[in-house]
Amino acid sequence: MRYPKPSWSNSDLELYRANVRRFVESEIKPNQKKWAEQQHVDRNTWLKAGELGLLLADVPDEYGGSGGDFTHMAVLFEELAYAGDRAFGVHVHAIAAHYILNHGTEAQKQKYLPKMATGEMIGAIAMSEPGAGSDLQGIRTSAVKQGDQYVINGSKIFISNGYLADLIVVVTKTDPNAGSKGVSLLIVETRNCEGFKVGRILEKLGQKGQDTCELFFDNVKVPTDNLLGAEGLGFMQLMVELPYERLMLGVGALAVVEAAIELTLEYTKERKAFGRTIFEFQNTRFKMAELKSQAVVARAFIDTCVEKLVKGELDTTTASIAKLHLSELECKVIDECLQFFGGYGYMLEYPIAQMYADARVQRIYGGSSEIMKEIIARSL
Ligand SMILES: Cc1cc2nc3c(=O)[nH]c(=O)nc-3n(C[C@H](O)[C@H](O)[C@H](O)COP(=O)(O)OP(=O)(O)OC[C@H]3O[C@@H](n4cnc5c(N)ncnc54)[C@H](O)[C@@H]3O)c2cc1C
Repeated sequence: MRYPKPSWSNSDLELYRANVRRFVESEIKPNQKKWAEQQHVDRNTWLKAGELGLLLADVPDEYGGSGGDFTHMAVLFEELAYAGDRAFGVHVHAIAAHYILNHGTEAQKQKYLPKMATGEMIGAIAMSEPGAGSDLQGIRTSAVKQGDQYVINGSKIFISNGYLADLIVVVTKTDPNAGSKGVSLLIVETRNCEGFKVGRILEKLGQKGQDTCELFFDNVKVPTDNLLGAEGLGFMQLMVELPYERLMLGVGALAVVEAAIELTLEYTKERKAFGRTIFEFQNTRFKMAELKSQAVVARAFIDTCVEKLVKGELDTTTASIAKLHLSELECKVIDECLQFFGGYGYMLEYPIAQMYADARVQRIYGGSSEIMKEIIARSL
């Protein structure tokens, strides 16, 4: 497959990409079927990724990270997407780590980030609840301060890495009457945590190797030291981290778009009907030309966003545009590509069918397309 070199790349990053690709080819690609069957990634894979310094590539060395920047993470997200991975939850792991990096105390950073970098601790972020997803102000999970502890009660749903997570950044209400100002983030360590229960791993349309779970908190006690920042800052912290999360999704979505186009070109140039290849039909060539144009334009936009994020200049609106545009484009491109595979496009053994199932959620999680439009509209 021939993929474009991003404008932000350089010779060091291309060397790094070659290492990442080797890891993805040997460790991620061959395990997709197994992980889909068992509904989670092997812990050992996390440790191997940690050994290679891939998990927290953009976290400073002093906290166990690799001292790179977002471009290193972008390389990982792209390579995972090119390889058809939709199981390895490094995205939410990195998000959880960034909450600690950007909002945690020095002691929290020293305690958790080195273990997250090695893969000894897997991270998750728990915002959504059965009664509140898009409208996070409506969450009901409570954290009540009692002495030097918080007592957490409530439940979360659709939590990626939920089954494997050793550390979860949990969005709670410390003051139920203060609206968004009553939201606080608490770090919960799940091992030997009394009152914490992981529910079933949810059956999904796609991304079957990803352990998306329900979580239950029944009088879970955590030290007040586990509060991120200060009480009531949770909503603001969520807003600060959104550009990182949304661009991450945009970067992965674009890589899937590029992969779908390459796969389809390969297939249509081989498959024949009416004495010629499918690619030779004008309909195919025009449609593929359209999709390719959209991918190239999107690449220019995403690359600019990556450069802005690295400089600390990516604003929420632009990040939301990236998330909206790329997740919509991903679903559209895959759907149009799948058509060229005919009946084979509907068979799960063909990667395009798997992509179709895996992609649909991109328009829902990380803030749905409708919520992205709300955010963008506010800036108009
Ligand atoms: C596979 C998967 C993994 C996930 N991983 C995580 C995770 O790791 N952590 C986590 O916290 N959550 C996670 N989620 C949850 C995800 O973020 C939510 O599903 C998403 O935010 C939507 O919330 P909801 O499902 O409650 O839908 P709702 O909020 O009930 O929305 C239903 C529909 O109404 C629309 N809608 C809502 N409000 C508005 C509005 N103001 N204007 C117009 N339309 C609106 C929505 O766009 C949507 O189409 C995951 C979800 C899935 C499916």
